[in-house]
Amino acid sequence: MHSSILHPAFKPKPFWWEFYDPTSFPQTEIPARTRVAIIGAGYAGLACALELHNHGVDCILLEAEQPGSGASTRNGGLVSGGVSIGKRYAGKNSAEELLALYADAAESFSLVEKLIAEENIACEWKKTGRFVGAWCTKHYRAMEEKIVLLNEGADAGAYLLPPERQREEIGSDYYHGGMVVMRSAHLNPALYFKGLLDAVQSRGITICSKAPVTTLHRSGNRWRLATPRGELEADEVVVCTNGYTGSVTPELQRRVVPVGSYIIATEELPPDAAASLIPKDKSVYDTRRVLTYYRMSGDRRRLIFGGRAKFGQYSPEETAPLLYRFMCDRFPTLAGCRITHAWTGNVAFTFDEVPHMGKHDGLHYALGCNGSGVAMMTYLGTMNARKIAGTTNYHCAFDTQDFPANPLYHGNPWFIPLVGRYFRLRDWIDRHI
Ligand SMILES: Cc1cc2nc3c(=O)[nH]c(=O)nc-3n(C[C@H](O)[C@H](O)[C@H](O)COP(=O)(O)OP(=O)(O)OC[C@H]3O[C@@H](n4cnc5c(N)ncnc54)[C@H](O)[C@@H]3O)c2cc1C
Repeated sequence: MHSSILHPAFKPKPFWWEFYDPTSFPQTEIPARTRVAIIGAGYAGLACALELHNHGVDCILLEAEQPGSGASTRNGGLVSGGVSIGKRYAGKNSAEELLALYADAAESFSLVEKLIAEENIACEWKKTGRFVGAWCTKHYRAMEEKIVLLNEGADAGAYLLPPERQREEIGSDYYHGGMVVMRSAHLNPALYFKGLLDAVQSRGITICSKAPVTTLHRSGNRWRLATPRGELEADEVVVCTNGYTGSVTPELQRRVVPVGSYIIATEELPPDAAASLIPKDKSVYDTRRVLTYYRMSGDRRRLIFGGRAKFGQYSPEETAPLLYRFMCDRFPTLAGCRITHAWTGNVAFTFDEVPHMGKHDGLHYALGCNGSGVAMMTYLGTMNARKIAGTTNYHCAFDTQDFPANPLYHGNPWFIPLVGRYFRLRDWIDRHI
C-alpha cells in the first residue's frame, strides 16, 4: 500500500471499533435446550432475540465468533427506508408489489428509530437525509420514476436535485445532479449494535460466543444444533448469518452471495475543509455500479468513505489505495490527507436483489441485505420473531416462498470478478456514451 496515504496511527480495523470493539466477549456454557435457537449475533439475530423475549418466547443466540464480529459493527452506518431496493426487481415486478416492499422498508426505518428511542441507544443518530448522486444523465432521468415510488410507498420525502443545485448538498461537481431523500439517516453502527446488545443482555437472554453451529439436523419434531463447545436442542431455528452464511445451511448458502465491501476513514480534517464536503451532513451514495457510499463521522471531523473497491475478498490494505482514489475523484481537495483506518466485511446479495425472510426446509431465515441492512436486517429479525411468537397476522412483503437460487452457484462466488469487470464496462459506457 502507498505508505504516503497512511497516518502513522493507521489501523487495519473499523474506525467504529474505537467506540465499541467486539473482539472480546465472555464465553458462557451452551444450554441443553431452548424454544428458539438463533444462529448469528448481528443486528438480525439480536433484534429477533429482543422481540421473542418481548413476546415471552425463550431463545438463545449462537455466534461463531463474538457478537458483532460480522457486518453489524463494520458497515457505513447509512440508514435508509428502502432507497436501494434492487433496480432489477423494480423493473420486473408490478407497482403494487413494489409499493408493498417499500412500505415494509419504510417500517424498517421506523423500527430503528423506535428501538433507539426505547432502549436509549446513544449511537450518533442523525436524521439528516441522503443525497444520491447520478453517475450519468440517464441515471438522473431515471430518478424521477423512483422518486414517485419512494414517496408513494415509503413517504420518503424525495426530490430531484438538478446539477446546478448539487453544491447545496455536496462540495463536488462529480455527479450529474441527483436526488435527495429526506427520510434517511446515519448512525455509528458499532454503538447501535452495542445498544441492541445491552438490551439483549439486560433481559437475561443467553448469547453463546465462539459457538459456530457445525451441524444441524431434525430429531423428531426438534432441531439438534452441534457446536464445538456442545449441543443444543430447539423447537425452532432462525438463521441470521447474512454475508457469513456457510455450509451448515447449504440450501440457504446457495441463495446468498457473499461480497466484500470496503471502507476507509480519513484523519481529522481541518474544520473548514470538513464542513465543505457534505454541508448538510447527509449520507451520500451514487448510482455507479461500482458503487461508493460515504458520510461524515458523528463529530463531522472525518470522512468515512466506502465502496466496492474490488470484486472478491481482498485485504483492507489492498483496497484502501483504490478507495482513496475514488474519494479524491469526488473531492480533489482531499488529496494529501491521510487515512487512519481501513476495513472490510461481507454483505450478502440475492439473485433477485431483494432481502428475504421466510421458512426453508423448516428453518426460519432473515438473509440477503444486498448491501443495505442496518434497518432491513433489524426489521427482518424482528418480523421473524413476531411470526414465531404467533402474535401478528401481518404478512411482511419480504416474506415470500420465492427465494431464488442459481444452478451454477453452490456457495463459491467464482463469478464475482467477472461481475466486477462487467460493472466497470457498463459504468464506462453509461458515463461516456
Ligand atoms: C463494509 C460494509 C458496509 C456496509 N454499509 C452499510 C450501510 O452503510 N448501510 C446499511 O444499511 N448496510 C450496510 N452494510 C450492510 C449491513 O452491515 C448488514 O446488512 C448487516 O449488518 C447484516 O446484519 P446481520 O445481523 O444480518 O448479519 P451480520 O452482522 O453479518 O452477522 C452475521 C453473524 O452470523 C455469524 N455466523 C455465521 N455462520 C455462523 C454459524 N454457523 N454459527 C454461528 N454463527 C454464525 C457470523 O459470525 C456473524 O457474526 C454494510 C456492510 C459492510 C460489510
